[in-house]
Amino acid sequence: SRVLRIALIPGDGIGREVIPAGRRILEALPPSLGLKFEFTRLDAGYELFQAAGTSFPDRSIDVLRHECDGALFGAVSSPTRAVKGYSSPIVHIRKKLDLYANVRPVKTVATDANPIDMVIVRENTEDLYVKEERTLEDPEGGVYAEAIKRISARASSRIATMAGKIAVQRQKLRESGVASIHKSPLVTITHKSNVLSQTDGLFRSCAKEALAAQQFVDAGVAVEEQIVDSMVYKLFRQPGSYDVIVAPNLYGDILSDGAAALVGSLGLVPSANVGEGFVMGEPCHGSAPDIMGQGIANPIATLRSAALMLEFLGEEKASAKIYAAVDANLEDGKLLSPDLGGKAKTEEVVNDILKRL
Ligand code: NAD
Ligand code: MN
Repeated sequence: SRVLRIALIPGDGIGREVIPAGRRILEALPPSLGLKFEFTRLDAGYELFQAAGTSFPDRSIDVLRHECDGALFGAVSSPTRAVKGYSSPIVHIRKKLDLYANVRPVKTVATDANPIDMVIVRENTEDLYVKEERTLEDPEGGVYAEAIKRISARASSRIATMAGKIAVQRQKLRESGVASIHKSPLVTITHKSNVLSQTDGLFRSCAKEALAAQQFVDAGVAVEEQIVDSMVYKLFRQPGSYDVIVAPNLYGDILSDGAAALVGSLGLVPSANVGEGFVMGEPCHGSAPDIMGQGIANPIATLRSAALMLEFLGEEKASAKIYAAVDANLEDGKLLSPDLGGKAKTEEVVNDILKRL
């Protein structure tokens, strides 16, 4: 059997209510899958910062790097005002472990009237998020501010290659019987190269070249491109037409939150931060201070994040089991959390899903 060493990083607020659910579903996987888990709990977030002066200690980075195969991250609170010395642990972890892709599947259940089944693959290391900003005197009066938008050939090619591989993998799953609204694999490259011909132009040309690789041609992956603003329009009008979307950091950030809005609750949408040899699953929602402590947080985003983590660890059978159990709970519709219009507590939702595993 294979032993997977997983760090559990609950963080703040409802992170502490949903991460235990993630642990429970991993432990409940049937022994026939041959998986064993070793869990390490790591503290992170704003409460830790207030107590210890750091939102994620360097020694925890070392634990992730040397002692873990993957991690499940809950959510952290960020102060609304800038607090001296505080920075987001998630950004820190992504940087230190070079988790260069942010992968966000957005999928409705098959019975939905307006079915959606897409994955947004967002470049996670550069673009405007290099945070090289400055404020200067404006000779015309006042000041002006500017920021560097950095796009590299290396990062653009590697994210497009990951998108291509995900498209192929999804097609394999369909062929093995996983239900989907798509018949063949499609990758949509998003950019604004009509205006930003050098930065987005580079992203576009590198992505096209990477996706023209023989492995993707052989697998029948179709490639299209779309300007980001018309992408938003079509994403809202015809979300079912997208399979895999690949985007530079900023557009990917915005598109992925927009896409999450299409499925009804933030409590449903998972994500994974993926690098070479490490993956961190993370629900898309935050620490939800408005509902924390009541035991009513929807655990599904976290359960799906655990499944997504397993997928990138090469355990597709295990992840398919989790996805199917979650879908069965949603399709049945009797034990739903309040964000989905139900009355069930976090624990009741988890118990129902475990029964269906
Ligand atoms: P949020 O995602 O925490 O909450 C937005 C709304 O969605 C709230 O009404 C909340 O109750 C609801 N919601 C979110 N997750 C839910 C779930 N699993 N089940 C049921 N309802 C759920 O976003 P926010 O309120 O803008 O931010 C709250 C805090 O979280 C802030 O400090 C913010 O900085 C932080 N945040 C962290 C992350 C992260 O850790 N990745 C992401 C977003 C926000
Ligand atoms: Mn975002």
